[in-house]
Amino acid sequence: MLIVMTKKATPAEIEAVVATIESKGFMARPIPGGERVAICVLHNEGAVEASFFGGLPGVKEAIPVTRPYKLVSRESQAHDTVIDIGGVLVGNGHFTLIAGPCAVESEHQALTIARLVKKAGAHMLRGGAFKPRTSPYAFQGLGEEGLKILARVREDTGMPVVTEAIDNETFDLVEEYADVIQIGARSMQNFSLLRRAGKSAKPVLLKRGLAATIDEWLMAAEYVMEGGNTRVILCERGVRTFAHHSRNTLDLSAVPVVRQESHLPVLIDPSHAAGRRDQVIPLSRAAAAVGCHGLMVEVHHEPGKALSDGAQSLYPSSSRTCAGR
Ligand code: PEP
Ligand code: MN
Repeated sequence: MLIVMTKKATPAEIEAVVATIESKGFMARPIPGGERVAICVLHNEGAVEASFFGGLPGVKEAIPVTRPYKLVSRESQAHDTVIDIGGVLVGNGHFTLIAGPCAVESEHQALTIARLVKKAGAHMLRGGAFKPRTSPYAFQGLGEEGLKILARVREDTGMPVVTEAIDNETFDLVEEYADVIQIGARSMQNFSLLRRAGKSAKPVLLKRGLAATIDEWLMAAEYVMEGGNTRVILCERGVRTFAHHSRNTLDLSAVPVVRQESHLPVLIDPSHAAGRRDQVIPLSRAAAAVGCHGLMVEVHHEPGKALSDGAQSLYPSSSRTCAGR
């Protein structure tokens, strides 16, 4: 249930509606809009009786929210969310390019790539310090040292940094250094991690799970929003199919569906979808054509020597194409 207040509703009238919702044992979550406040009713089992609220002062209307993901749904917010990350805008009308290595390998590597992708038109830098790897023997990331390198690179280039939190133990550390906290495909249904991200003051980039339906992905975003963090960016990165001409299959159709269902920005990561360099630029073009709000691409100055995902990493010169240059 969404309770839409009139434009002239006073803070006291909003408070009174919140108190009424809470008196019924539900949770009230005010959603500030450009013109008027709406209050979303959460934690109700079954439909809520609209007549409870219809007559209260300042209430314009009570609308049922039919989707299971409430705060994420367009039913609760008609306009697109735009997220401001240190002056970089993500969402509605902005095409945001995030580029950088799969993993931070050294200060020299991260700084070299960051300077090159910035010159090519990137707005934000990506780079993992804690890496979720299939093999326990593979490079796991530099950990805290990687985060410190990212902070120094941010200082040098002025670009905000996106880096992944893989577990609750290291979440606080990642949160301290990151401008955007990435929750990776493998963690999309790590519900305690999602709840922790919901308590963060930093924006969250939530990748779609390897075999997640769109509903499951949006419900994962709901976990973060339910915790109070409204700054969620969705990122489609390919799903597992029978195909083996690419690492995963990029689900381009997710973009129009998500844009219809949700007000949250949706990016595409063609690098993890493709798994191979030659497909990254064609998929980037397709991603822009279906209306995503930006791209996250992997770039390495020496992909042959990369400690992870070299095969899918673009050369810095070709990342210019992703920036439309
Ligand atoms: C990544 O972006 O570094 C990553 C591991 O991606 P994904 O979670 O999509 O596999
Ligand atoms: Mn990678």
